[in-house]
Amino acid sequence: MEYKARIAGVPVVLVHPRNTSRTCPNCGHCDKKNRPTRDHFHCQSCGFARPADGIPAVNIRGRDEVMQPYAG
Ligand SMILES: [Zn+2]
Repeated sequence: MEYKARIAGVPVVLVHPRNTSRTCPNCGHCDKKNRPTRDHFHCQSCGFARPADGIPAVNIRGRDEVMQPYAG
């Protein structure tokens, strides 16, 4: 239970949704111009583009993997 709670809590504390939604999951470039509209993401650095809905989840999932104390 302790292990599970720790994983669930860490991303909430460390990830800032506003910055995450502007940060490219492909190259890490953070720019408000990456979000020309609320529903669209287009990286100004590498050109990565996709519907904006999936961006925060991708970034949070990536950090969650990094923060896990062990795998398996
Ligand atoms: Zn990029």
